[in-house]
Amino acid sequence: EGELVRGSEERINVSVRLRPLNGKEILRHDVADWDCINDNTVVYKNVNVSASDRSMYPTAYRFDRVFRPDCSTREVYERAAKNVAISVVSGMNSSVFAYGQTSSGKTFTMTGVTEYAIADIYDYIQKHPERDFVLKFSALEIYNESVRDLLSVDSTPLRLLDDPERGTVVEKLTEETLRDWDHVIQLLSICEAERQIGETSLNEVSSRSHQIIRLTVESSPREFIGRDSAALAAAVNFVDLAGSERASQANSAGTRLKEGCHINRSLLTLGTVIRKLSTGRGGHIPYRDSKLTRILQTSLGGNARTAIICTMSPARSHVEQSRNTLLFASCAK
Ligand code: ADP
Ligand code: MG
Repeated sequence: EGELVRGSEERINVSVRLRPLNGKEILRHDVADWDCINDNTVVYKNVNVSASDRSMYPTAYRFDRVFRPDCSTREVYERAAKNVAISVVSGMNSSVFAYGQTSSGKTFTMTGVTEYAIADIYDYIQKHPERDFVLKFSALEIYNESVRDLLSVDSTPLRLLDDPERGTVVEKLTEETLRDWDHVIQLLSICEAERQIGETSLNEVSSRSHQIIRLTVESSPREFIGRDSAALAAAVNFVDLAGSERASQANSAGTRLKEGCHINRSLLTLGTVIRKLSTGRGGHIPYRDSKLTRILQTSLGGNARTAIICTMSPARSHVEQSRNTLLFASCAK
């Protein structure tokens, strides 16, 4: 139990999850070039690479945790996200991100992680009848720097407001007070329907948009029992990011940005914010440069806990994107 509440030691926990080759990749005789040699290291196994390639790119990358293609989402959750997510019950803000190129497994991973985390939070509440808990659920999507409520039929873009006490708030965002587990499942399936468009339909919106599911946990003691009886409130965010190919395309395009190449401002700014936070040198952190980082500001940095799960395809054909993902993951550590 004490184990459950203790957050992860690290402020930012970075892990990498390899998925299996998918049907499409197998059909075109693609090869799995990436593997995990232990719990912390991803390696590039292709020996037929040019000398320049070999001098430019590492063949081994170390992280807090790496997951083989046959790992279950349950295991990924337990080892990479649980401590971060569950710290919300003790009043700590936190965020769990899935980062990676389109079709690398972000939605597959986050769907499971979100459900397991909320189940554990429920479990914790059941075991602590001495406190009163209120859980609130909200879900939004950021597409082209426009914010949409996923729990409302009204698709009018929502405005962000600066609240002197609560920081940035999303105006008029639906907040459902959770009644029971069935209610959780119902809300999660609404969000999932938005996300699980699958590979077959070329879904531009889902690969370019960020989805945030936010669970707010408020608690107070049923009766005064000394100094442990303070009221607590915190939020945990489950963030299924836009495909990272958007960020790296923009990066590699460099000066071509001005020519109208689509940039994902939120993804680029998140990268900058996380890099700045992970170096721990302080200075100006550009939270205000994008909608995503404004919304997540109180759940990033400070005392907040962050888990970043980077998902990647093991396929040879995706080597460039996979290296970009590993580079992002390395910078986030
Ligand atoms: P993304 O959200 O990054 O675009 P998805 O999560 O939609 O990618 O995954 C693409 C496809 O690969 C889906 O059909 C999904 O079920 C499958 N998939 C992803 N990760 C895994 C995994 N670890 N094991 C098995 N299938 C996976
Ligand atoms: Mg997805």
